[in-house]
Amino acid sequence: MKQFTDSSNYSAAMHIIRKLVSSGYEALFAGGSVRDMLLSGRIDGDIDIATNALPEAVSRLFPQTVPVGAKFGVVVVIIGGVPFEVATFRSDRGIADGRHPADVVFTDARNDALRRDFTVNGLFYDPVSGEIHDYVNGREDLSGKVIRAIGNPDLRFSEDYLRMLRAVRFAARFSFSIEEATWEALQRNASHIKAISVERIFGELDKMLCGLHPDHALALLDTSGLLEQVLPEVASLKGVGQPPQFHPEGDVFEHTRKALSLLGKHPSPVLAWSVLLHDIGKPATMTVSDRIRFNGHDQAGAKSAWLLLRKLHSSNVLADEVEACIANHMNMMQVKNMRLGTLKKLLARPTIDDELELHRIDCLASHGNTENYGFLREQRRRFAAEQIRPEPLLRGRDLVELGLSPGPLFGEMLSAVYDLQLEEVLSSKEDALKWLRERYPQLPGENR
Ligand code: ATP
Ligand code: MG
Repeated sequence: MKQFTDSSNYSAAMHIIRKLVSSGYEALFAGGSVRDMLLSGRIDGDIDIATNALPEAVSRLFPQTVPVGAKFGVVVVIIGGVPFEVATFRSDRGIADGRHPADVVFTDARNDALRRDFTVNGLFYDPVSGEIHDYVNGREDLSGKVIRAIGNPDLRFSEDYLRMLRAVRFAARFSFSIEEATWEALQRNASHIKAISVERIFGELDKMLCGLHPDHALALLDTSGLLEQVLPEVASLKGVGQPPQFHPEGDVFEHTRKALSLLGKHPSPVLAWSVLLHDIGKPATMTVSDRIRFNGHDQAGAKSAWLLLRKLHSSNVLADEVEACIANHMNMMQVKNMRLGTLKKLLARPTIDDELELHRIDCLASHGNTENYGFLREQRRRFAAEQIRPEPLLRGRDLVELGLSPGPLFGEMLSAVYDLQLEEVLSSKEDALKWLRERYPQLPGENR
């Protein structure tokens, strides 16, 4: 428990607990932090606190608070700039629409545990006495490595269908199984996930993809029936055959699953989504001639990925960058035949880090040949940053000085000069001006 007690979050959380307890309230660590502490002896995530103090009392006790969900009993207490959720023990009352409780009532720790989703998430820890309060047999399921709904799983899912995605996410992250009745209810209710807002669905998928074992999450999404509801474009990769000489691993879905298994710890969301979606253009572009081909699947897939992400209300930046990574992923196969200028432009792309990693994973999840990846890494080391994206030898103002006005020809000239600069054909402003005069005889003379 040493690492655990050393964390600065822990000290700040203890400050909140002590203050509540010395004011006569009960205050406990709740949910994920207790689970993580029992699993690994440390808490890396947030520490949520549960108490019998009412929101007004919590707000009065601490100088810096935000009543984020005071109606639901949640007050954020800020200690040293770090926010902590302090929630009054509550019980959800009435099922409004499978998404939100109609109302909450303030209650005791036992009933607060019962409203939580899974037994392993329903534990409390009293850091003053060192005692665990387990009203839901959560400890037993932690040692048995089981995700089990608290109470009747059909009912619990129907209160908030997002819990189905959460079950998959926790099972994948901890390599736990999903208990039989919970799993059957999940399969029965999968189509109801549509009742949940796309923002919440995106949030869960994003955590799954960027967390541990995203390949396991994909397999569970598939077998539960959730995948065809939330990511039909990915579900349709199943059974799409590929040429075995390039893809000994199997169909496009299996390739995608294998690719996800190769994501390292804490991938960027751009990389994780790009890996998941890099081949979604394949079903629509498949042709069979001399062999199975997917001409243009990169461009088609890039567009579909952008649309899919925007439909899930992801940020524009994420959608744009994933689109760029997917649009480029086949270019990586050509790098050894590229002109120097084209290669430098590729290496200067803002998404290049994620593109390189996507390429490496794509190769390892199929034929296993990473020669092009090695070549690109080597080239990147060779070109210093200035060489990849040097300051242009000529700028617009230089052309204006020559007596030209901005227009299409203007842009064409600048980009032609820049390309030759990248090719290392031109290396000084004088060279560039000389080349321009030769190439565009209509330019005004030197002594205008
Ligand atoms: P993570 O490490 O992913 O944050 P967590 O368990 O802390 O895991 P949170 O989403 O932060 O998950 O939620 C905190 C706690 O609130 C959970 O442990 C669970 O007890 C409860 N909870 C969260 N979402 C739900 C939900 N949709 N239905 C029921 N209980 C929930
Ligand atoms: Mg949490």
